[in-house]
Amino acid sequence: MSCYEHSAKPMEPRAPGVIPIELKNGARVKANDVPPQGVYLPNNNILTPNMRSPQYVQMSTAAAITLGVMPGRMHRTSCTRCLNLLLTYPEGCRANCAYCGLARHREGERDYADRNFIRVDWPAVPLEQTIDIVAKDGENSPFHRMCISMITHPRSDEDTVTVLKQWTARIDPKTIPVSILSNPTTMTRADVQRLHELGADIFTVALDAATPEIFERTRGKGVQSPHSWRKYWEILMDAREIFGPQKFGAHIIVGMGETERDVLELVQRLVDLGGHSHMFCFFPEKGSLMDHLPATPRDQWRRVQLARYLIDYREVRFESMRFDELGRVMDFGVAEDILEEIVTAGTAFRTSGCPGKFAADISACDRPYGDSPPSNIASYPFQPNGTDLRKIRNQLSRK
Ligand code: SF4
Repeated sequence: MSCYEHSAKPMEPRAPGVIPIELKNGARVKANDVPPQGVYLPNNNILTPNMRSPQYVQMSTAAAITLGVMPGRMHRTSCTRCLNLLLTYPEGCRANCAYCGLARHREGERDYADRNFIRVDWPAVPLEQTIDIVAKDGENSPFHRMCISMITHPRSDEDTVTVLKQWTARIDPKTIPVSILSNPTTMTRADVQRLHELGADIFTVALDAATPEIFERTRGKGVQSPHSWRKYWEILMDAREIFGPQKFGAHIIVGMGETERDVLELVQRLVDLGGHSHMFCFFPEKGSLMDHLPATPRDQWRRVQLARYLIDYREVRFESMRFDELGRVMDFGVAEDILEEIVTAGTAFRTSGCPGKFAADISACDRPYGDSPPSNIASYPFQPNGTDLRKIRNQLSRK
């Protein structure tokens, strides 16, 4: 039985509204047809320029600050180690995932390039300018990894290839490896193969939902979105064969109505296949179809974070953990002294994702404050200090 069935308030998305035809498919941006001029910082008070990949890509606020194309400072961290490049089109993503700020149902309300995504704005930058800056920095680049984030759009397969080719023509993928955050819905096995041959290092699939039912409800037919659990797994298994062990993975959002047991069973399945899980804590993204729902309680999140770390990096097995009747972790399946050592080290509570240059269990993709506000951090984009660890211990009900 899942939390969803237990809960008095199920994590049910709002139904998407009807979009007037004159606002569909980026019609407003295309009709205004304002030519872009260099970097575009999201701004709801001016007309959004007509920008399109592969000439333009969007990147997180943290990446834009680190790249030096946008002023700003981040709480307790000076840079991000992952340059995430998001494909961009006036039509935007054609999917409608309920937790996502980029979803199609927002096209009446906010132009694509101005939509918030994982809690931040995503400035649009010419690809050439981006590559110029990173190529100039060479080995001294602050970035440990680049990630092309595909969205659901008829052009995204082809444009991902173009971005990857343009990048690797100037930047050695051994210096800054490239990850692909894929969009399985439009992809074939041949597309996965092509990206591997062109030098991509890691291929990930954003399953996001931990169970087929939650997938259907949040990013399938439940919200008039085109994705299917079956297709996502098909591409994930293609990636497993083509990219090989430790070079593929899946994103999972914790707290969308699944139990802790559900998530950790999936984490074990991915490890048994030779891959990794990259985890996000559910946060009600403003403007999304789930913005009325509660963020994941911190005790739940910390238990899953810790158990996931044990399965992914310490060879502890899901089967040796014990759960209560609500599917909550009651026993992590590891001796107390080892558990204490891992909690004290703090790495388990950092952002998870593709590795950078520091260590195999430290993600380059630190996504500062992507899944929580800085006042109540879910995924730490840096090494948690003593005060942070005291808070984490409280959340885990540990002394
Ligand atoms: S496919 Fe990705 S970008 Fe598009 S709505 Fe779903 S989660 Fe958001």
